Amino acid sequence: MLDDTRARKKKKKAVIAILIDALGWELVKKYKVFSDIADYRTGLKTILGFSSSAVPTVLSGVSGDKMELWNSVYYSPQTSPYKWLKRFEWVPEPLKENRYSRFLIRQFSRRMAKHRGYFSDFAIPVKYLPQFDLCEKRNIYSPGGLIGNQSIFDDLERIQKKYKVYSYVQGASDEHIFSKVNNDIINSTSDVFYLYLCQLDAFLHAHVNEPEKVKQKIRWYERQVTNLVENAQNHYCNIVIHIFSDHGMVPIKSTVDMITTIQELGFIEGKDYAVMYDSTMARFWFMNGKCRNAITQKLFELEYGNIVSDTILKEEGAFFEDRRFGEIIFLMQPGTLICPSYMSYAPVPGMHGFSPDDPDMEASYLSNVVPNVQPRHIRDIKRTVLNTI
Ligand SMILES: [Zn+2]
Repeated sequence: MLDDTRARKKKKKAVIAILIDALGWELVKKYKVFSDIADYRTGLKTILGFSSSAVPTVLSGVSGDKMELWNSVYYSPQTSPYKWLKRFEWVPEPLKENRYSRFLIRQFSRRMAKHRGYFSDFAIPVKYLPQFDLCEKRNIYSPGGLIGNQSIFDDLERIQKKYKVYSYVQGASDEHIFSKVNNDIINSTSDVFYLYLCQLDAFLHAHVNEPEKVKQKIRWYERQVTNLVENAQNHYCNIVIHIFSDHGMVPIKSTVDMITTIQELGFIEGKDYAVMYDSTMARFWFMNGKCRNAITQKLFELEYGNIVSDTILKEEGAFFEDRRFGEIIFLMQPGTLICPSYMSYAPVPGMHGFSPDDPDMEASYLSNVVPNVQPRHIRDIKRTVLNTI
């Protein structure tokens, strides 16, 4: 009798969707993580690119080329928020290329361009900044966050579901997010709880090669999710849990100084060509045919990577007709990093952004219910979650 009364007081159904950035399928298999919570487990193919397009793909179910976004930086001198810097070309390099001036340049450029959201110049040399624009990022964890596209939050609004979203955007750590959700599970009337947890990604970039530390970190997430599910079981009759990621993490085995290799060809960067050295790819734009031929020839000779064909770019949802993200995209072999690059000065033990076919790049999907249609790609996550609501 007492049990019946308690059961009647419980809310009906909670759908808990947890995006754990960089929780790769290899990691899930190796540590058998979440095995008590989620019987259904599969690897998912990720996209070619970084979190800047992988997370929006998870949220929207469409590829970067359909959302007009891909890597953070693209060639566009006309719209560059840094174009005002061209008037200061006469200023000696050391005066511009230091922490303080970079900070001021970033603040001023952001204000001039009225850029909202994330804004970074990474490690792009100041003299090349006026060539580049940045994909503007709104808060993608809210309705209307993906320009011209429907994210799962737009769908939840449309079907008038009560939901709550948690991410670092509100300044919360993963630990803080778990404690907030546990509180809301008790006190709110929401049916859907969507968590984006970003800190495993940063941890794996730094520690992917340290199995004991990785194991401890993964077990911490497992404990938090287990507590969350137990808490939810006390307050809801039916719990559906989805745990998934946007990509995996590849251990770095070697680095190459590609910048010097290209500079040794003797062409002038900024005049003959422009290049963005992301850590796992080099993206080139050319101002003359001679330079294009020489650099293309050199790229064919380099054994540590390959030029990505248009066919592959189209297959991977990363083909842009106007080539704003690169006339030629050179992708490194998994495990080899361009270092230094225009993304960072120092090497890191782990990186993603390699070929989506590499096993360490594979993302994961785990659930306590078997989906109607098996998800195979991170594009399928939105549909899979919505089908349970
Ligand atoms: Zn990352």
